[in-house]
Amino acid sequence: MDAAGSSLPATSRASPDAVPDVFPDTAEISPAGHLIVGGCDVTVVAGDHGTPVIVFDRQTLERRARAFCGDVPAANVLYAGKAFCCVAVCAILRDLGLGLDVCTGGELATALAAGFPPERIVFHGNNKSVEELAMARDAGVARVVADSFDELRRLAEIGWDRKVLVRVTPGVEAHTHEYVQTGHEDSKFGFTLADGIALAALRAGAGQNLDVVGLHAHIGSQIFEKEGFELAAARLAGLAADAQESLGLEVRELDLGGGFGIAYTRDDEAPEPAELVASIAAVARRAFSDRGLPVPTILFEPGRAIAGPAGVTVYRVGTVKRIPRARGHAGQHDRVYVSVDGGMSDNPRYALYRATYEAALANRMEDPATLWCSVAGKHCESGDILIEDVLLPDDVAPGDLLCIPATGAYTYSMASNYNRLPRPPVVLVDGGQARVIVRRETYEDVLRLDVPLT
Ligand SMILES: *Cc1c(COP(=O)(O)O)cnc(C)c1O
Repeated sequence: MDAAGSSLPATSRASPDAVPDVFPDTAEISPAGHLIVGGCDVTVVAGDHGTPVIVFDRQTLERRARAFCGDVPAANVLYAGKAFCCVAVCAILRDLGLGLDVCTGGELATALAAGFPPERIVFHGNNKSVEELAMARDAGVARVVADSFDELRRLAEIGWDRKVLVRVTPGVEAHTHEYVQTGHEDSKFGFTLADGIALAALRAGAGQNLDVVGLHAHIGSQIFEKEGFELAAARLAGLAADAQESLGLEVRELDLGGGFGIAYTRDDEAPEPAELVASIAAVARRAFSDRGLPVPTILFEPGRAIAGPAGVTVYRVGTVKRIPRARGHAGQHDRVYVSVDGGMSDNPRYALYRATYEAALANRMEDPATLWCSVAGKHCESGDILIEDVLLPDDVAPGDLLCIPATGAYTYSMASNYNRLPRPPVVLVDGGQARVIVRRETYEDVLRLDVPLT
């Protein structure tokens, strides 16, 4: 890619206050050219807490969470904990009145440790164990989303007496700008509409005296368009009509899942959550009323769209390696590897999905970014890349603080100890205060599960 031919401007920061939208809402640039988030100078946070560090902006988290509440009540916005689940974040969302979607005993334990009200928790997953289901039952979790015939039996066996939703794979799969319709959905999740399987699941649940109250569908992730959701809602309304007619079963709750996309780069134009959910909910309600069905309670499960924009991961640059006209870039440019002190262990998204990100130097935000670089981690793996191509200042050097915005979701929650690297801390910033909400792992933590021989 040639700088002039790229959609990224050669100089990416025009004015002192211009921070790209992919940074948290409170991001600004100090007179010294430092990145400020939540009123905190990120270079000071990095100095106090070390690097890598995930700086998490409370205001962005809260504003994003509130944006989903309005058309549907807060308790019916079930934050998908898998995006980033820790006690402090659960507590913040608890206080905003949101609900929570957990899909393992570990996420449930975190929610309960945060005092999250169980009546606002929904339990997901395609293979929940009997122990996990019993834990949810004993904790008073309000809803379980049943994913298989085996699980429906298991729920009956453990005496599950609260709400059950049935997960449907509606033959709609969406990613960012596209969705595909498939007749026979090949997925490990849920019950397909094809061959009457979803209807059979509703019959089986009701036959086992479970309180089957509704339907659930989650059609994908990082979705920018509403059409896929609307098509899924229409198909679920069709199933609801069949359930009413053939089983006398009323669908009272319709959970349309998550998947709302965010901007990772300045080229991404992500939809505003409030408009998106209001419009999808309206279409869903109409799909039911058009069929003469009672209008169900609508639920959503945003994960990434709440936590993602709140996080900025800050690394220290350790080495800069230039390979003259190495490859790609039409042979025009040197390949420059900027290696940082984290990598695929704290953010596996590039390695997993070729995810794209922006980056900047938190210690000199106003320096023109003119050099195409690849940001690499410190792991023993060529695929340990964080960003394939990004513009950084020409003289990027060891000691610089490289920050990657939009890393609040699916980074820490997917982090590992690969190469026995301790996981970074998460520091919540708000009104000039920085406090640790997940502490940095120590070597002692890394060793804590090892059982020496003799
Ligand atoms: C992953 C997931 C979500 C959240 O997805 P986002 O893309 O983070 O919004 C919601 N519901 C279910 C069932 C999921 O598996």
